[in-house]
Amino acid sequence: MTGRCVICGSQGWTYVHEYRGYLCRDHYQRYIEAKVDRCIKRQGLLNGVDKVLIALSGGKDSSVLAVVMKKLYSWRIRLAGLHIDLGIPGYSESARKSVLELSNRIELPIEIVKLQDYGFTIKEAADLYRKGVFNRPPCSVCGTVKRYLINLYAYEKGFEAIATGHNLDDLLLFSSMDIVTGDVTSLSKLLPRQDEGHPKLVPRIRPLCLLTNRETELYTEAAELPVSREKCPYKPPPRRLRSVLSEELDSIEEKVRGFKHMYAASLWSSIIPSLSIGKPVLRECSICGMPSSGRVCSFCRIRESLRNTGYKERFL
Ligand code: SF4
Ligand code: ZN
Ligand code: ZN
Repeated sequence: MTGRCVICGSQGWTYVHEYRGYLCRDHYQRYIEAKVDRCIKRQGLLNGVDKVLIALSGGKDSSVLAVVMKKLYSWRIRLAGLHIDLGIPGYSESARKSVLELSNRIELPIEIVKLQDYGFTIKEAADLYRKGVFNRPPCSVCGTVKRYLINLYAYEKGFEAIATGHNLDDLLLFSSMDIVTGDVTSLSKLLPRQDEGHPKLVPRIRPLCLLTNRETELYTEAAELPVSREKCPYKPPPRRLRSVLSEELDSIEEKVRGFKHMYAASLWSSIIPSLSIGKPVLRECSICGMPSSGRVCSFCRIRESLRNTGYKERFL
């Protein structure tokens, strides 16, 4: 049994602590949109930016991101979506279907880049890894591929920022893992806006960085967004440390309301700015010309290693 919406008095849909009462579906969506807007303004995520590429995976967070950005900013910013078709059986078809449905619904121009057009798929890389002839696990290949192709597309098409759907829970979990494992370089990148300081690396922004998992989930329900629920067959079981940390962060928030926002605020205003991590010296990859810390970038290294397994005609 729910109460009435504290704003309009119609049937309440979900309880919201900040209001100490219920909101209807419509006011819940507006509440979330206002939160994202506040975050974008306070963090200056769109200052001086006219053209933003939204990375769309087909999952809940990037779908919420696209809908909210379209509603709030399409009047002044050119927005477009990009989806990378990774070639993962079942998962990729479902993701593509959701992304296309969403972009139709909100009239967002979208481009789909197929990894296969670069000579391989994640399935093929995973099969070779399983056979022991290729040494990188699927998620490691996948992470590199997504980062590289999204940046390449954004750079070539003149986008000034790439928006990704990372939410507050993602960022706090990553940062806790980085602190525990001492990965200071990775920790230093967990800001709402990440500038890489290289003209060929497009800045990344995270407009959902103040929304929890539960809030983005509820928004997808309230707005009835088409979201792919298909599980990736290559997803490894969660590491014990990761799941314990995630449960602990939720449990502290239950006991001390506002804890997650306090953690994020000190992370972004004190902890990360005080890290003395120099920017890596980047040169241009001798194969593709994109920035790389070594002679060959990690994307081209993956392609080289796969080619060297000698299994693929289209590489030769
Ligand atoms: Fe890629 Fe791993 Fe995610 Fe699957 S689980 S989509 S392989 S990063
Ligand atoms: Zn209402
Ligand atoms: Zn390269």
